[in-house]
Amino acid sequence: MAEDLRECDVVVVGLGPGGEHAATELAKAGLDVVGVDERLVGGECPYFGCVPTKMMIAATTALREADRVVELAGSATVTPSWDPVARRIRDEATDDWDDTVAVKRLEDAGATFVRGHGVISAPGQVTVGDTAYAARQGIVLNTGTTPSAPPIQGLDAVDFWTNRDVVQLTELPESIIVIGGGPIGCELAQVLAQFGVSVTVLEVADRLVAAEEPEASEVLEKAFTDLGIEVVTGAAIEQVKHGGDGFTVDLRGRTLRAERLLVAAGRRNNISGIGLEHVGLEGDPRVLDPDERMRVADGVWAIGDITGKGAFTHMSMYQADIAVRDILGKDGPWADYRAVSRVTFTAPEIGSVGLTEAAAREQGIDVRAATGDLGARGWIASEPGVVKLVVDAGLGILVGGTAVGPSGGEVLAMITAAVHAEVPIATLAGMHFAYPTYHRALLPLLQQLS
Ligand SMILES: Cc1cc2nc3c(=O)[nH]c(=O)nc-3n(C[C@H](O)[C@H](O)[C@H](O)COP(=O)(O)OP(=O)(O)OC[C@H]3O[C@@H](n4cnc5c(N)ncnc54)[C@H](O)[C@@H]3O)c2cc1C
Repeated sequence: MAEDLRECDVVVVGLGPGGEHAATELAKAGLDVVGVDERLVGGECPYFGCVPTKMMIAATTALREADRVVELAGSATVTPSWDPVARRIRDEATDDWDDTVAVKRLEDAGATFVRGHGVISAPGQVTVGDTAYAARQGIVLNTGTTPSAPPIQGLDAVDFWTNRDVVQLTELPESIIVIGGGPIGCELAQVLAQFGVSVTVLEVADRLVAAEEPEASEVLEKAFTDLGIEVVTGAAIEQVKHGGDGFTVDLRGRTLRAERLLVAAGRRNNISGIGLEHVGLEGDPRVLDPDERMRVADGVWAIGDITGKGAFTHMSMYQADIAVRDILGKDGPWADYRAVSRVTFTAPEIGSVGLTEAAAREQGIDVRAATGDLGARGWIASEPGVVKLVVDAGLGILVGGTAVGPSGGEVLAMITAAVHAEVPIATLAGMHFAYPTYHRALLPLLQQLS
């Protein structure tokens, strides 16, 4: 039973990227805001997700470029070391997993920070420990996700790693089995392999990054194989064990062994047991599906991974801006998910937006699609990659696109703008495309489709 009652305008429960942003902006607008987090202000992204993993990837990019000297420019001797990677993650990315700076930034904006587990205890009220915070305007939920493990026999009895362990490594193992060939599993698998770890990736689907276009999976699988990563797709994992010499994973008809096991095969939304029933959200939902203003109940907004609209930092921030506008009584634009962009930061990078060809067909769209290589730039620089565009032939506009290659996530920007603004294909095909750039690879596709 809470002892103290403190009134405020808004309580933000969970300060992931979106929650932190919303709390900051609402406080700057003059509202009395209480921000609650039980772990670190900023959430998964700065401490265990995007930032440390992309710091690892920056290191592997340097190694890969050095490897290419022999083919393109002469000779070079490179000795990979994890030490600078671990040091940069500890000192430059995460402040040794300390959020003092982030807390100060929030408080400087005028918000009150409370460290603890927040639970909705009544409509418009959140309890943290012995204090209840009564919010005059409402509650913003941004509680994010926790790594989860698939129901594999023996998995719950062994000490496997998740992304939260890998980002804190100071030494690398000799070998690792990665369960999960989605974006997180693939990014981490490639980083470890690039630093000399013997890596096997097990993916239950019939291809890596199965949510992306099959052409993207194909290019990535070849890059993995070229790097010496063993990829097992359609993996039927029967059992996991741990003994003196490491981990054993029994597949149907085959047994694999490695020093370590990384599970990157799913995440659980942190919305169970947070008192949703007090605001009319009964039945332990798996996601909180918001309306276009991010409202999930009277006086309750939900943003970020828990909304199931795409587990990305940019989604969490996008939704935070919308919730802030709504709370401050401003006009839209309200949520629009047609042109959600996503990047898997592997080498080559996979940038994609909107619908895949298969998803567009499932929606009954009159689809036309075209696929091509990276054009002159890819050939000159000896880079693998693929570009693909998906068109709604009836409307004559792009509904999706994929750019796999160096800077795939940057090439993506122009496809995203076209999908978002519904630019006619014929208009795009008449544009100037600088030669020789990667984005020029889109021109023949547009000409073919227009
Ligand atoms: C390895 C990895 C790499 C990634 N790379 C990228 C990338 O490159 N680009 C990208 O866009 N996204 C990436 N992501 C995804 C990204 O990290 C998330 O989408 C992002 O953090 C947004 O999450 P969120 O705002 O929903 O909340 P989260 O970041 O999950 O934060 C939620 C916060 O809520 C707190 N909390 C939960 N419950 C409570 C409670 N009851 N009371 C108080 N506090 C609570 C938690 O302590 C946490 O701080 C990556 C994720 C991982 C794991």
